[in-house]
Amino acid sequence: MASKNVLAELKDFADCIQTNASLAPFTQLKMGGPAEVLILPRTLDELSAVLKRCFDQQLRFRILGSGGNVLVHDEGVKGIVLRLAAPAFTQISTNGSRLKAGCGATLAAVIANATHHGLAGLETLVGLPGTIGGALLLNAGDRTSDIGQFVRRVEVLDNQASVQMREHDELRFTSTGTILDDPVLLSAEFDLEPERPESIVKRLRKSWIQFKATQPFSYQSAARIFKNPAGLNAAVLIEQTGLIGTKVGAAIVSDRNPNYIVVEPGAFARDVLRLIDLIRTRVHERFHLELELAISVW
Ligand SMILES: Cc1cc2nc3c(=O)[nH]c(=O)nc-3n(C[C@H](O)[C@H](O)[C@H](O)COP(=O)(O)OP(=O)(O)OC[C@H]3O[C@@H](n4cnc5c(N)ncnc54)[C@H](O)[C@@H]3O)c2cc1C
Repeated sequence: MASKNVLAELKDFADCIQTNASLAPFTQLKMGGPAEVLILPRTLDELSAVLKRCFDQQLRFRILGSGGNVLVHDEGVKGIVLRLAAPAFTQISTNGSRLKAGCGATLAAVIANATHHGLAGLETLVGLPGTIGGALLLNAGDRTSDIGQFVRRVEVLDNQASVQMREHDELRFTSTGTILDDPVLLSAEFDLEPERPESIVKRLRKSWIQFKATQPFSYQSAARIFKNPAGLNAAVLIEQTGLIGTKVGAAIVSDRNPNYIVVEPGAFARDVLRLIDLIRTRVHERFHLELELAISVW
């Protein structure tokens, strides 16, 4: 049940609020408890007003994209979870070689739109679950390219809930994410390369095959768990501990890529957390290294 004071502070937004709302359908692992309050703002003004209220009343909030990088505790999440799923936040448009996308749009939709308009560059991200917001924050990609290299500007809500534009020179994308620390990413503009859609589709097919080869594809629910330590590969380290295939409850270390945990139906977040602890302990015992979580635990 949502605590009375949170709901009282949000009573003006009753039309876009759900209490005790299940988050499992909105995460890739499809597990975990409910959000105390889930808000789906319908317009930028509504989002900005909610955010302002959160700041003024010191209410904790989080933004959920497509939950590719989030593990929700079985007990659920206290406070507010915001989803930018309304059309106001998922629009995609092109102008010459520039593509603009709302941060609630999925990578899949953006890649499809870019391909349709003959704009190349984002092909290596094909298959990756995620919204533009989550992908920007984590600088999603593989070893060959990442989303950050195509970003020209990002529109955000700052910590006064005001719209700001972060230009190319202020953005720095690294192998683990970005320095953007604004509370909400609203939209991004990408500079892409004009190319014949047929040639882009050919590359997309190739990238898709390569992506699938590294994925635990026979499981619907999976998550990439650890960051690669500097100069090392987390999957290789985990493989060398002999934990491939190890199962805790219904959570399993993937044999396709040991840096993924895959889950069978009926798994709990606590199974995944226990498996994470086991992997970290074994890697530490063997290599004296602390694996850092890539996934956020809510
Ligand atoms: C099977 C599988 C394979 C994957 N493979 C890869 C891979 O090859 N390469 C890779 O880089 N990643 C990979 N990932 C991780 C993940 O898919 C990506 O990092 C993705 O970009 C996360 O986007 P999301 O929308 O799901 O973000 P979420 O998981 O929903 O959120 C991630 C973080 O971003 C924040 N956030 C989301 N949207 C916004 C916003 N609009 N404003 C502010 N903050 C926001 C959230 O609060 C959270 O802190 C994989 C994940 C899975 C499940």
